[in-house]
Amino acid sequence: MDMSDSNTTHHFDVIIVGSGGAGLSLALSLPSHYNIAVLAKSSLTEASTFYAQGGVAAVLDETDSIQQHIDDTMIAGAHLCELDAVKQTVEGGRSSVDFLLNHGVEFTLDEEDQLHLTREGGHSQRRIIHAADATGKAISTTLVQRAKEQKNLTIFENYIAIDVITLHKLGRKDQSNRAIGLYVLDEKTEKVHTFLAPFTALACGGAMKAYLYTSNPDIATGDGIAMAYRAGCRVANMEFNQFHPTCLYHPQARSFLITEAMRGEGAYLRLPDGERFMLRFDERAELAPRDIVARTIDHEIKRLGIRHVWLDITHKPAEFIQEHFPTLYTRLLELGIDITKDMIPVVPAAHYTCGGVVVDEHSQTDIEGLYAIGETSYTGLHGANRMASNSLLECFVYGMSAAQDIQNKFDSNFKWPDVPTWDESQVTDADEDVVILQNWDELRSTMWNYVGIVRTTKRLERALHRIEMLKREITEYYQDYRVSKNLIELRNLVLVSEMIVRCAMQRKESRGLHYTLDYPELGTELRKTVLTPPSFEVEQPLVNVV
Ligand SMILES: Cc1cc2nc3c(=O)[nH]c(=O)nc-3n(C[C@H](O)[C@H](O)[C@H](O)COP(=O)(O)OP(=O)(O)OC[C@H]3O[C@@H](n4cnc5c(N)ncnc54)[C@H](O)[C@@H]3O)c2cc1C
Repeated sequence: MDMSDSNTTHHFDVIIVGSGGAGLSLALSLPSHYNIAVLAKSSLTEASTFYAQGGVAAVLDETDSIQQHIDDTMIAGAHLCELDAVKQTVEGGRSSVDFLLNHGVEFTLDEEDQLHLTREGGHSQRRIIHAADATGKAISTTLVQRAKEQKNLTIFENYIAIDVITLHKLGRKDQSNRAIGLYVLDEKTEKVHTFLAPFTALACGGAMKAYLYTSNPDIATGDGIAMAYRAGCRVANMEFNQFHPTCLYHPQARSFLITEAMRGEGAYLRLPDGERFMLRFDERAELAPRDIVARTIDHEIKRLGIRHVWLDITHKPAEFIQEHFPTLYTRLLELGIDITKDMIPVVPAAHYTCGGVVVDEHSQTDIEGLYAIGETSYTGLHGANRMASNSLLECFVYGMSAAQDIQNKFDSNFKWPDVPTWDESQVTDADEDVVILQNWDELRSTMWNYVGIVRTTKRLERALHRIEMLKREITEYYQDYRVSKNLIELRNLVLVSEMIVRCAMQRKESRGLHYTLDYPELGTELRKTVLTPPSFEVEQPLVNVV
């Protein structure tokens, strides 16, 4: 489609922001006569979904049961999960697997040509389907291919959604509020377009780019969470961020995961003086649960004022290492690290956003016509900690459920309101992009140093003070200058960072992924942390009432 004209307005039945597991499961589950737009701010496969390694959890083995999967999830989530959401997700396992198989995703099979099931942390049974160690790639490339074949889907790569348009934001307070689309920047032409539809879905992934070190791709800047909040939706449990213990620390290279299997095969974690420090903290040493290893590394890094610790597998024979970790061996060798002889510099890295936009069982937010799906959403599934491989499952279950809800509410006589095009009359071209870079770095360092794995009230207060300052500067910049991708992302990132801090300050206990030295014990009350935006309207349908 030629979108080169400035300020074009386009009409669709459904607009889906995001081409990961969540966005594409919705797109491919809607009727094929709907006119659907799928937006991605980079290429279609540049999404966390593509990088998932482990797999998708589902109860498929006869020795397994729905109840066991539910119990495992509740325990992993430190009992903060909402039972209805857990049930819905777990019960949707079989249909999600069928959805993926029907679309042609090729999973690893066992000797009897059945889906091979592997086991991961927290799961009491083998229930993870996978495509070797690159499950996300198999899912992403297959679903993207199917989406490209669908004639009713129009795909917009390098289009960045800026904000949701609602009737009340347009001043139509006499009508009941609903979302009617988005303003979107075409990165190539630098023009802002108006996308209108009676149904808009935010499937924008997580927000872990808020941290200096992350396993997430660059797209994970919390855009969906920030857009929904600004539109008037509640957001919950943003304090629960999962950190993976071992990501590469390399000043010149992008951080990536160093698989847990390396510790499983005997690698040691060491301090600069060579000490195997995990032995001091937990008798399981390097094989203690993820959050304990991550917290211990963080503690030692802060205690010694060092930038990283070392992962050492050099005591194993070179052939063993090359045979077990061929991809990592080659990838690290390219960076000058020969893992048969050299230790690997590692840091824990932000990995998964457990909180998000509050939604009901159909992924409907507080605003009619606006959906949030996948890592952007808070369904209640993860509670205080995500269990491995439940997140992709959540994307498919809720993507399909949203498709059903949209079909039920579809009205072919929808009356299109008049919507003004994006107004650029008051802004100029930015004079100094270095301001964005500076704020971006400062924000992510502040989050890493003060709002990381181990928190204190004092550190959170310091962080909030700096974030508020940065937010003021970024807001001013946003009001004065033409939008760019970096500016849109930074504006969103500073808002979600503030949300993380505010949620963390409200939780006066240590539970799951939130650990604070000021309240090291579990609290007695089970409650989620909810942030209500100033524009929240109580007459809107209340979902997941707190
Ligand atoms: C390294 C890694 C390994 C993982 N391993 C597993 C695993 O084994 N099993 C598991 O269950 N989970 C795993 N996870 C988590 C899981 O992959 C994610 O939670 C899940 O893929 C999120 O899917 P999503 O569709 O919500 O978002 P994503 O897949 O991240 O997709 C987000 C989409 O939104 C688009 N987007 C964002 N903002 C905008 C905007 N403003 N305008 C336009 N488009 C926008 C992006 O371009 C992208 O297309 C892993 C995550 C990582 C990073």
